[in-house]
Amino acid sequence: MQPRPLISAQDIAARVAALGNEIAVRLPEGSFAAVGILRGAFVFMADLVRAIPRDVRCDFLGVRSYGAATETSGVVQITSDLRLPISGKHVLLVEDIVDTGLTLRYLLDLLQAQGPASLQVCTLLNKPSRRRVEVPLDFVGFEIPDRFVVGYGLDAAQKYRNLPYVAVVDE
Ligand code: 5GP
Repeated sequence: MQPRPLISAQDIAARVAALGNEIAVRLPEGSFAAVGILRGAFVFMADLVRAIPRDVRCDFLGVRSYGAATETSGVVQITSDLRLPISGKHVLLVEDIVDTGLTLRYLLDLLQAQGPASLQVCTLLNKPSRRRVEVPLDFVGFEIPDRFVVGYGLDAAQKYRNLPYVAVVDE
């Protein structure tokens, strides 16, 4: 089954450029750490940090969530930890998609426990209709309907991460 385009590469590029400028203005002064969630956010993270005209440190958190293939259980395993300490630092968490919010809730609690000076969230995609727990989203690329999407870093069974656009696969 062929993925159907939902958000074009051009629309993503324009939105990422705008997000980069918004983040540069709204994040507290001084350097900050962008923390990308692997693997889904790696493409977005690469484009986003280049769109932020500020001093940005980059780090990554490897995460695996258990559950059915297309749905998270909220139980998260950290497969690769941060390299840089975030205590006393301003942190921007960079996510690919927020669906139920369970993964993000877990990650926010985990990072908050490490005492950052501030903690904000930027997600490329948001599926608000599926939310099960409240999570603060400071920067959102696109709100999308309740469809399973792939491309621009997001996969279906490890396929489609390299599509340059976001697409819907019919389950
Ligand atoms: P949540 O915990 O918010 O329900 O889900 C977050 C994680 O579930 C995302 O980081 C992503 O790995 C996965 N996910 C949720 N919706 C989608 C989707 O539409 N497509 C893909 N590829 N992954 C999704």
